[in-house]
Amino acid sequence: MSLYSIKMRASQKNKHISGSEKIISYDHIGSYANQLMQRGLNHPKGSPDLLNIKIEKIENNNILYLDALPVCTIEVDNYRMGIEEIRKFLNSLNLENADKIVNFLSKTYSMRGAILLDVDTLERLEPDRERGIRATYMDAERTNNNVSVNGKNHYAEAIVLATKVAYAPNIIGEICISDDPDYVTGYVASKSSGYKRITKMKEQGSENGGRIFLYQGSKNDVAETISFLEKQPVIVRNVQPLYMDKRPTDKFKFIGDELIDMRQNNLYRSMKTIQSGQSSTVIYNGREMLMMASNDYLDMSSVDEVKKYAASVLEKYGTGSGGSRLTTGNTVIHEMLENKIAEFKNTESALVFNTGYIANLATISSLMGKNDVIFSDELNHASIIDGCRLSGAKIVVYRHNDMEDLERKITVNPCRKGLIVSDAVFSMDGDILNLPEFVRIADKYNLLSMIDEAHSTGVIGRTGRGIVEYYNYICEPDIIMGTLSKAVGSEGGFVCGKNKLIEYLKNKARGFIFSTSLSPVTMATSLKSFEVIEKNPELVTALHDNVRFFCEYMKQKGFNIHSETAIIPIIIGDEKKAMEISEWLFEQGYFISAIRYPTVKKQSARLRIALMATHTPEQLKEAADSIINILRQKEVFI
Ligand SMILES: *Cc1c(COP(=O)(O)O)cnc(C)c1O
Repeated sequence: MSLYSIKMRASQKNKHISGSEKIISYDHIGSYANQLMQRGLNHPKGSPDLLNIKIEKIENNNILYLDALPVCTIEVDNYRMGIEEIRKFLNSLNLENADKIVNFLSKTYSMRGAILLDVDTLERLEPDRERGIRATYMDAERTNNNVSVNGKNHYAEAIVLATKVAYAPNIIGEICISDDPDYVTGYVASKSSGYKRITKMKEQGSENGGRIFLYQGSKNDVAETISFLEKQPVIVRNVQPLYMDKRPTDKFKFIGDELIDMRQNNLYRSMKTIQSGQSSTVIYNGREMLMMASNDYLDMSSVDEVKKYAASVLEKYGTGSGGSRLTTGNTVIHEMLENKIAEFKNTESALVFNTGYIANLATISSLMGKNDVIFSDELNHASIIDGCRLSGAKIVVYRHNDMEDLERKITVNPCRKGLIVSDAVFSMDGDILNLPEFVRIADKYNLLSMIDEAHSTGVIGRTGRGIVEYYNYICEPDIIMGTLSKAVGSEGGFVCGKNKLIEYLKNKARGFIFSTSLSPVTMATSLKSFEVIEKNPELVTALHDNVRFFCEYMKQKGFNIHSETAIIPIIIGDEKKAMEISEWLFEQGYFISAIRYPTVKKQSARLRIALMATHTPEQLKEAADSIINILRQKEVFI
């Protein structure tokens, strides 16, 4: 039995108003012709002076049957976020010129068809630019439980078209914004990512819509692609009804409310997309920026020697570890790294965790329990706080780096078993723990002492070995925790100390036991990085020199700042002001983060400047001048 293609097109003074098409059986021609005619005559864009209905027979064995693309909906608050989603989609197709492709959308507004865009050369491939390419001869398969086939169903029609387009030869994706002024939902689609509805892609009431078909391939094949899009009859199976509108969205109300609340209080966070490796300069928004916010203090993540060694380990050991350390995920490289860390930190033994965050959670919660007491500095890192909470122990918070307050609190909270825990270098203030007192008090009251060396490893001490070297090895904390993701320029966390401690953690720390270990290549990166730091103590010296230079320069200009670590906080106070200052500095080419609640206390928002060993004095001077400029403009005095 043959099927028929039926198409309607309505226009007014040669301007397209409305169009639609179906593929139907002979019996249905009459009713659909009527339906399409009604639709053409009653369109919100106006009444037509020409209405065209075309009916063509198509041979059954010419028809290609395709399964509908899977659908998901991305809810966005405004069309700018919608456009951002398009950019993400283009990035997911590995297209580097996403911004330029997005700019082509405005060129489609007056077109009836789509742009056929060569994504590599950005050439337009449609033979007639005014007409564009029109995907046609397609419909959803009609079944008993079908989606509404009466009247206009934007959604089903769009899925059908997107499915056909996604299967066209050499088409890698599609972007579509409806030109219907009342319909602001658009989509992006591709064979691999399916059909993504984006709830706002333009402003309500705008007639600006259009389509781009993304072409990647030889110019010789363009004709074949166009012929498929414009002539190949396609019936799309399994178009799923759209539940979204019927599902109770109330479930998500608290999430939406919270997001709005955070925006209103200047506490909403979003990510910045960096288009280069991490180093003293990075590419952001297509432009080179001076990086002054990175924890990669020694600029290790771009050291050739480290990269080459990591590449050789990658070649030999592959990408994954296949299991936790206690099952299959333990290689010679893992053990070499742990020996190296123990040596670097001058301890008996070391154990690597997947992140510093997990190292804190797993260590604290496995050592302490319900009947124990943990004494914790009020400015400790979130991972310490979370570890304390997870342990179930009683938590006593003492005043920042205040050893008298600590001792007082210990005497009024006696316990059989307890722990004192502190950052060695405080992550948002850059100051250094009074370690000798800290260890003395812990030993006096028979409590375990634990320090977090995330920001001291590779940074303080003459050769970067951290806080114990900084205090000339006059004291020895029981538990030294640190991360490999900061000055070491890699990934992972570690704990070092006595053999017995490490043996205990291997058997008790759930974050160690129940997580697949890091890959050998990640371990290799850290291992080589430690070797480079050991061989080149001048790297650490360069970092110290930079910090001294920068602080002195700011001081000369009347800003009283001070740090002995790589972290230099400039306290602004108000969250909004801090954000504005940071944004201004971004515009000037300085990547400097504003830090806000909940990372720091409310009304103590700050710029957190992080220096690197490889910054040059010229770079630092220019940055300082810009910072001083905006601080004066905003009347911030320090
Ligand atoms: C960054 C940081 C951590 C967490 O380390 P990751 O390896 O990034 O998970 C823990 N403690 C402090 C003080 C930190 O600054």
